[in-house]
Amino acid sequence: MKTWYREIAFSTSRRSEVVDLTQQVMSATRESGIRNGILVLQLPHATAALAMNEGEEGLKQDILEKLDDLIPVRGRYQHDRIDTNAHAHLKSVLLGSSVVLPVVDGSIVRGTWQNILVVEQDGPRKRRLALFLMGE
Ligand code: ZN
Repeated sequence: MKTWYREIAFSTSRRSEVVDLTQQVMSATRESGIRNGILVLQLPHATAALAMNEGEEGLKQDILEKLDDLIPVRGRYQHDRIDTNAHAHLKSVLLGSSVVLPVVDGSIVRGTWQNILVVEQDGPRKRRLALFLMGE
């Protein structure tokens, strides 16, 4: 059994936005040479999150607006006594920051409308997504 690790570096350009990394993750997975195994995606950040869903522009906006409805940018947050981004941490807690996916015959097993999306909530920033593959 082989293991393989890579990070995909990217930048976000707004306070909140949804970045679609599906193509980069698929390319990297192909380049790994591992055709059957487990892919772990880990976003090593506390104010952004990972989601697997449709990369359609309207839905991306809906995700951001609904998150703002649930957790407004300004609120009575304890964390804002030392920082100004409590809302971003809370949204990240809600969505999570890692995903485990099967890789079968060289392809990531996912639904047609399950793109790999990073949900930025404290941008613009430099970000990275860690990929760890285990298999053969
Ligand atoms: Zn903070």
